Amino acid sequence: MKLLVAKSAGFCFGVKRAMDMAREAARKHPERLHTLGPLIHNPQAVEYLENLGVKVKERIEDVPGGTVIFRSHGVSLQDLTKARKRRLRIIDATCPMVKRAQRFAKFLHRHGYALLIVGDADHPEVEAIRSYVDERVQVVRSVESARRLGPWEKLGVIAQTTQSSGIFTEIVASVLEKSKEIRVFNTICQATTVRQREAIDIAKKVDCMVVVGGYNSGNTQRLASICREIQPCTLHIETARELDPKKLANKGRIGLTAGASTPHWIIEEVEEEVRSLNQKR
Ligand code: SF4
Repeated sequence: MKLLVAKSAGFCFGVKRAMDMAREAARKHPERLHTLGPLIHNPQAVEYLENLGVKVKERIEDVPGGTVIFRSHGVSLQDLTKARKRRLRIIDATCPMVKRAQRFAKFLHRHGYALLIVGDADHPEVEAIRSYVDERVQVVRSVESARRLGPWEKLGVIAQTTQSSGIFTEIVASVLEKSKEIRVFNTICQATTVRQREAIDIAKKVDCMVVVGGYNSGNTQRLASICREIQPCTLHIETARELDPKKLANKGRIGLTAGASTPHWIIEEVEEEVRSLNQKR
C-alpha cells in the first residue's frame, strides 16, 4: 500500500496564529479567559485549550469579565461593541485574510454596491462580515440559488475565505449578465486554494481518500466533498479511532489530507493507523 499525505494538511497560518495567541494568553492571563465560540472548529483542539484554562462561551453576554479571545472567523460588529462597552480585555485572533474580506465588504457597501457573499449563511465568518454592512446582502452557496437572484444595478461579489474556487467561479459567471456593473473580489485565501488543489491532485491518483477534521468544520466538509466528486471512496473522519479497516481493504493507494483546523497530532495518529492497518493485511 502507498500512502500519499498532503503537504498542506492541517493548521493554516490563521488557525496556527489563533492557537498561538490563545496559548500565550493562557500563559499570561489564565484567570477568566474565554473564547467567543470555539476558537477553531475542532473538538479535540478545543479540549486541549480547555485544559490550559481557555473556556468557551457562545454569547458575549455570558463572558463573566476578564479576557475574551475573538476567533479566526472574526467577530460581529454587535459583539465587538458589547465587548468594548463591558470593558472586556480583547484579544483579536481574527485571521488577516478574514479581515481583508471584511474590508472589501465595507468598501463595496460604501460605494453603493449590493453585496453577494458566496458562502454558508450560518457560518460565523459570513455572519460577522454581514454585520458590518446593511440589509442589502445576499448569501449563496450554489449556482442554482445564484440564478434565482438579481437583477442588480451595481453588484459586488466576495467569497467566504474557505469556499471552493470552482463554485465561486461558477457563481460569478452566473450573475455576470444580471448586473449592469459588477465588482468581484476573490477573497478565498491562498491557504484554502493550495489545500484544495493538492487534495484534487492526490484524489486523482488514489483508490481511497481520507480527509481528517472536525465534522463541524466547514472547510473540512468542503475538502471532503471536493475529493468525493473525484474519488467516491472518500472518508471524512475526526480521529484515527473512526478509521474503518474494511473500507480501506484492498486499496493500493490511499490519500490523506486534513482541514485547516486539524491539529498535527491527529493527522499523525491517522497516518500511523493507516500504516498499521496495512501491516495487518
Ligand atoms: S483558512 Fe485562510 S482565512 Fe481561514 S483562518 Fe486559515 S488562513 Fe485564515
